[in-house]
Amino acid sequence: MNAHVEETAFISFVCPVCHQEIESPADMACRKTECPTCAALILVPEGSEPGTLWPTTAIDKDGPSKEQTDAMKSRTIRIELPDNW
Ligand SMILES: [Zn+2]
Repeated sequence: MNAHVEETAFISFVCPVCHQEIESPADMACRKTECPTCAALILVPEGSEPGTLWPTTAIDKDGPSKEQTDAMKSRTIRIELPDNW
């Protein structure tokens, strides 16, 4: 997978254990990481899950409103690449 990745590429998904919404750098796709909330070992999906901050599907006519996007942002925790990346 050598697709050009923009600096701002993120994947958003929901922790399967505690349902915390998490935002992760796209570089971490398909990697295991620790949930920032419950510390469970979770797998970052290849793409964002529907209904989260960065859905893979383009924003369509029924896309989230600005308020919904802001609400998603405020409840999503961003994780960073590990130091030993
Ligand atoms: Zn969790």
